Amino acid sequence: MAFIIHGLGVSGGIAIGHAHLMTGGSLEVDHFQIPKEFITREVKRFDRAVKQVREELDALEKSVKDDAPAELAAFVGMHRMILDDPMISDAPRDLIREQSCNAEWALKVELDAMLAEFEDVQDEYLRERKSDVRQVVERILNALSGQGYVVPEKLQTRAEDTILVAYDLAPADVILFKDHQIAAFITDLGGVTSHTAILARSLGIPSILALHHARELIHEDELIIVDGTQGVVIVDPSPTILSEYKLKQNQYAIERQKLKRIKTAPATTLDGTAIELFANIELPGDIDQVKSCGATGVGLFRSEFLFLNRRDLPGEEEQYEAYRAVAEGLKGLTVTIRTLDIGADKALEGDEEVMPNPALGLRAIRFCLAEPQIFNTQLRAILRASKHGKIQILIPMLSSLDELNQTLTAIAHAKEQLREEGKKFDEGIRLGGMIEIPAAALTLPMLLPKLDFISIGTNDLIQYTLAIDRSDDSVAHLYDPLHPAVLYLVAQTIRLANAAGKPVTVCGEMAGDIALTRLLLGFGLRSFSMHPANLLTVKQRVLMSSLADAESVSNRILKADSPERVLMLLEKLNT
Ligand code: PEP
Ligand code: MG
Repeated sequence: MAFIIHGLGVSGGIAIGHAHLMTGGSLEVDHFQIPKEFITREVKRFDRAVKQVREELDALEKSVKDDAPAELAAFVGMHRMILDDPMISDAPRDLIREQSCNAEWALKVELDAMLAEFEDVQDEYLRERKSDVRQVVERILNALSGQGYVVPEKLQTRAEDTILVAYDLAPADVILFKDHQIAAFITDLGGVTSHTAILARSLGIPSILALHHARELIHEDELIIVDGTQGVVIVDPSPTILSEYKLKQNQYAIERQKLKRIKTAPATTLDGTAIELFANIELPGDIDQVKSCGATGVGLFRSEFLFLNRRDLPGEEEQYEAYRAVAEGLKGLTVTIRTLDIGADKALEGDEEVMPNPALGLRAIRFCLAEPQIFNTQLRAILRASKHGKIQILIPMLSSLDELNQTLTAIAHAKEQLREEGKKFDEGIRLGGMIEIPAAALTLPMLLPKLDFISIGTNDLIQYTLAIDRSDDSVAHLYDPLHPAVLYLVAQTIRLANAAGKPVTVCGEMAGDIALTRLLLGFGLRSFSMHPANLLTVKQRVLMSSLADAESVSNRILKADSPERVLMLLEKLNT
């Protein structure tokens, strides 16, 4: 019988397809009792999973070529040793028998005990093997659930009909789907501006997060409808509902098609003011989308995605080629490369150790200043690529003048190295700072003289202003772009930058939300950066907007004394 589940619609549109339940590489497991007569069977299930992982590691070892780096063989050897450790391959069997629990739970209990032992180890190398242990356990859990690794084989054959149903997905998982045109994905966890949600929008497919019970309620291969705009999943729809949604799906496709007509039209308001509409990208392959939506250039290249889903770090040559490909591919359009914003929900592989407060931890520029070698490699690669196009550098998560000064020193050092080596780069390369921490917004006059431009990262600015973890669905309802404190900081930042004659862009998700386009125009914003999928809708809104009206209502919104009044005025602005 049909039923509906509600969640947070993070990427619009309608998808109709068959569910594929997947594990998101998380170590979350269920705990349940196994009836006495099935205990032996459960132990055997566990043994089979261990055997399967042993075979996977054997196959991996065979595929390692003789000339491959020694670390690769060592890594397989290490994983095999971990697998053979009695705590991993034996102890869970005893626990299943003693506690009549399921194999996954027994394995998780042993894993926790093993990780706790690591905490007391003095040797740093051994302590770091924690992530290897986790990866081996994840492999066994995947084997137990009878599923393959992250991108299931099914997606190779019938991706367009597949809707992924996951408990949670990390940004590193979602980026893998760029190569597989799946119909939609839905998850039980996640916040509206988590990086998982942002990637969903960049894939241009309907997505819903924070459904809470989708993995329990939906069965493998069940027919489902995902309405990303309304945040609704309809499971096992009746023929009437199905045909209604097929109609809606067609209408949506027609609307999207119509938008293409304004692709080459200049983005000007009704008063004739030119507005710049940039695109946000994650990987060099995204430039096709940038071109097909007619963007002014790239306002945010989230370079950290080059660093995910791999065990090593991309070297200078590899990064140089990636940045060069984007600069050349966009033939003279501006490309804003944000330096590595790793940390929080985008951890480097092998660095999964959970910090007490990841969003407040060693992230973005803090990480780069703490790892000068990694930062220097990236800066050199960006600088070298700058001779092939119009590249500018953007620094994420600045919080103080001191941090900016250290960054300037690191850039000056990389430039000096290249000059000494006789390597060319754009001597006039421009440097921008992201304003996404309230401290940066409040001390902007100190930062502006040293920056060529700024970009407001509203996703983090909201997170840090309202003290709401953007990835945590339990506080998602409090995540509010219209909170007076957020509006004040955004408006004030735009005003100060304009007064100082420094270009300012908004590159957070607020820039791609048409409900906020006129509000931001009214605050004085003339440059927006968003996912290519949103760009033409925002352009359409710009074409129908009067700056004079926008300014007057936006000012009243800033002074509004209640959330109801803000909403009422916003509605007035948008009609
Ligand atoms: C932001 O914080 O608004 C932003 C654009 O950066 P990210 O979403 O990658 O943190
Ligand atoms: Mg950010």
